[in-house]
Amino acid sequence: MAYKISEDCIACGACAPECPVEAITEGDGVYVIDADKCIDCGACADSCPVGAPKAE
Ligand code: SF4
Ligand code: SF4
Repeated sequence: MAYKISEDCIACGACAPECPVEAITEGDGVYVIDADKCIDCGACADSCPVGAPKAE
């Protein structure tokens, strides 16, 4: 299980510093989560203004 950022992402960057394991990086147009690092905590979803990170 890992969270995944959908195309709804507006690349605001709010989620990245909230991730305790630094799994979130800026990708091409949207931010991306490294599924191998994600511990499924949900902090990114809580910090996102558009609800882009979703539990897979
Ligand atoms: Fe990071 Fe938690 Fe979001 Fe996974 S669910 S990317 S560990 S903030
Ligand atoms: Fe994208 Fe939401 Fe993260 Fe902002 S907080 S970069 S909109 S996933």
